[in-house]
Amino acid sequence: MPSGLPLSVISKNIKHLATEAGFDLAGIAGVADTAEHRFFPGWIADGRAGEMKYLEARNETGQLKRASLSNAAPWARSVVVCALNYNPGEPYSTHAGTTTQGWISRYAWSQRDYHEVVLGKLRALEAGLLQMCERQKMPAPRTWCYVDTGPVIERIFAQYAGIGWIGKNTCILNEHLGSWLFLGVMLTSLELTPDLPPPDRCGSCTRCLDACPTNAFPAPYQLDATRCISYLTIEKRGTIPEELRSGMGRQVFGCDICQDVCPWNREAPLTKAPELQPRVAFVNPDLGWLAGLSVEEFREIFRGSPVKRARFNGLRRNVALALGNSGEERFLPVLEELSRDEDGMVAEHARWALRRLRGELRRPSAK
Ligand code: SF4
Ligand code: SF4
Repeated sequence: MPSGLPLSVISKNIKHLATEAGFDLAGIAGVADTAEHRFFPGWIADGRAGEMKYLEARNETGQLKRASLSNAAPWARSVVVCALNYNPGEPYSTHAGTTTQGWISRYAWSQRDYHEVVLGKLRALEAGLLQMCERQKMPAPRTWCYVDTGPVIERIFAQYAGIGWIGKNTCILNEHLGSWLFLGVMLTSLELTPDLPPPDRCGSCTRCLDACPTNAFPAPYQLDATRCISYLTIEKRGTIPEELRSGMGRQVFGCDICQDVCPWNREAPLTKAPELQPRVAFVNPDLGWLAGLSVEEFREIFRGSPVKRARFNGLRRNVALALGNSGEERFLPVLEELSRDEDGMVAEHARWALRRLRGELRRPSAK
């Protein structure tokens, strides 16, 4: 591509533009398939993605899009990966709240939906890149920006872009920022200079694997999403398998346990993004309050929040299980009412929770 600037300088400028747009980290990965990409089709074939059918999206020739960037965007030559620190700090799910409070994953505490926030910054980066190309009299490159919704596995490219290593808990971990990172990617037709992946710094640690209450890690670096509380409380529709319910504790939306125990998160700095400051009502929410929400209140309170992805009855199903796991007999009347709910799924989970609270179930078998 004709240009007054070498590609290494353009690459450096792009990363500078990303930090000007408000990202904490930015790096560049190539588009070649990696060992992690080759693992993906087997993971899908083993049913580890559960009901997350979007992960199985295929191109017109039937190839899994996420298994290779050449299946999804053959024109792309580089992947710019940007990371935004969303760490709101304490409390942590592992030592927080009382037995009458639930847990909403901290990525969903923010004032605004992170998809919007991250995409806004990616668009600013994209505009800056196009301006730079214009100034250098280069043809405008092709670009696509994604936050979660693209046919790419962001974590893999984040690793190869030098953002962090993929930990045994399968999260991307940065030595200075920990794992409370939102990732956004910009694919581009520019052949940029790639960064290097950092070393794996998990060492002999197994805290995340040991702490998972539903045994969702069949092995280090492997996640069985169908056993993960994040999947069960957010993506799973309908019935949650009984053998996993006790292990879910009081998590009503998502789960932070395997990140909360990670030593690399202990000193992680707090986010500076004003849009990502926490909404107090979402931190350790009162379970009785959540159980009593009307559908109108649910829509109003969780407008612009990732929590709405669980849907009204999905959240009430999760809350019913949390009430059952609370050990608080004061919730018996709430659960009795939920057990007569017009939504059959909510009612069935509430009946299980009643038996759990009354001590009529056998000991948990999830772990
Ligand atoms: S998010 Fe929770 S349930 Fe999922 S793997 Fe981590 S600790 Fe286990
Ligand atoms: S808890 Fe330990 S093993 Fe797990 S991701 Fe963190 S450093 Fe790695």
